[in-house]
Formats: sequence, C-alpha cells, structure tokens
Amino acid sequence: MELPEYTIRPSARATRVVLSIRPRQGLEVVVPMGYDPSRVPDIVRRRLSWVRKHLSRLADSPADAPEAGSLPDILHFQAAGVAYPLAYVAKPTRGVRLVENAGRVLLAGKVEDLAACHATLRGFVRRKAAAVLPGMLADLAGRTNLSYEAARVRMQRSRWGSCSAANVINLNAKLLFLPAHLAEHVLLHELCHTRHHHHRATFWKLVERFSPDWRDMERELRQAWRHVPGWVDGDCLSQQDERGSLCGPGDSRTGQKNNKNK
Ligand SMILES: [Zn+2]
Repeated sequence: MELPEYTIRPSARATRVVLSIRPRQGLEVVVPMGYDPSRVPDIVRRRLSWVRKHLSRLADSPADAPEAGSLPDILHFQAAGVAYPLAYVAKPTRGVRLVENAGRVLLAGKVEDLAACHATLRGFVRRKAAAVLPGMLADLAGRTNLSYEAARVRMQRSRWGSCSAANVINLNAKLLFLPAHLAEHVLLHELCHTRHHHHRATFWKLVERFSPDWRDMERELRQAWRHVPGWVDGDCLSQQDERGSLCGPGDSRTGQKNNKNK
C-alpha cells in the first residue's frame, strides 16, 4: 500500500502523535521529542482513509487557503445563534481597537495589519465564548443531571473539549462556530466524562441515553473544523490525533492525571 508524502515535525509540546493536513504543507506528522520515526508509517497507514479524504478535499478546494489571509465581514456564532457584522475603519493609531455596539462590531486603528485584526477578533471570540459556553454547559448539566466541578473556556488548537479527573471541563472557544447540535454534543460528551473518565462502552452507553444518534454526531464532529474560519488559527485545515478521538492531550481518556493543560 503506497503512502502519501508527509513530513515529520518533532515538537516539545506534543505528548503524542498528531496528524495534521494544511494547505500548501500537505500532511504533517507531529511527534513528541525523541519519538522513533520508524513508527510513523504504520500510524499513517492506520489513518489512511482519513488522510486520503482530507488530502483530496484540499486538492478540490484551493479556495480554503486564502481565508486565513483576509478579513472576515461577519462573525457567525452558530452555536449561540448570533451573527455580528464586522466593519473596519483605518485610523492613525497604534494597534487595533474593537468596539461592539448594538449587535455590530467595529475594528478601528491599524486595520491594514491583518495579524493585529485577527488577534483582536480572536480576543472577541474568546470573550464571547467565555460569556456563552459556561451557561450552555450549566443548562445541559441541569437537564441531564450530570454535575461538574468548574468550566473553563480557552482557545485550543486541536480538541473541542476535555474533562479533568477533578471534573473540571475545558471547552474550546471555537465551539461557538459549530452548529448548535454539534456544540451541544461536545458539551454532553464532556459532561458524560464526569461519570466515566474513559471512552469505553459504559461511557458511550451514558452518552447514548441522552443522544441516541451520538455516532452520527461524533462522525460529523470529525469534519467540524470546516465551520471554524481559517483566520481563527492560521491556516490549519484539519487535524486528527492518532486515535481519532474527540478529546485531546491530557483529557479524561486516561482518567488518571489532572488536566493541567499547559
Ligand atoms: Zn472524550
């Protein structure tokens, strides 16, 4: 079986192997420092159908790439059912300032600085997510009778959520961009981890009790990166960890360590 071309990138931050596919770069395999590269072909082979699918999509849609290099004219937070039209006004100031007024968002200042605009918008996404997602989680916890210790929201690159051994639930701010049913499924997934800190059958049984079509949701979630605009984290199109699961490093899968999540 012939494998697609890929590059291997050792990373001090990686705790395990992550496959990622990006415009221009193609398939990249991020490995922990000191990882034996001779093990990589087997991993790529195991995830071959996922890799092929995303590589072919990349070839089909070169239009995905420029999004990271332009300014959006709307922020559509599907999970919260709101959209913010964006406007940009150039002013001779240092940096970029964001003003929210009556459901519209204005960026003023050095708006020709794309990176500064994206960083400012990211801050806005993070603040909105922190204002919205914990309430959604609390609401769902009430409806399912599942309780958790605390909720935190942060911008994360490759996972939607995680639940620590102490039942602290971490949610990715980018969940705001997902369709509501998918965002809610992630919240449910993490809430179920408060009872079962693993992905074994008992865990999925609990998920199924609240979400009978969880399989479809999990499948849909693997493609859900495309709902997140490219500028939110550079031009990363898709990522999947070795096991292809929803949760990421240090998450509840092990159920042993507290999730420090550095
Ligand atoms: Zn999980």
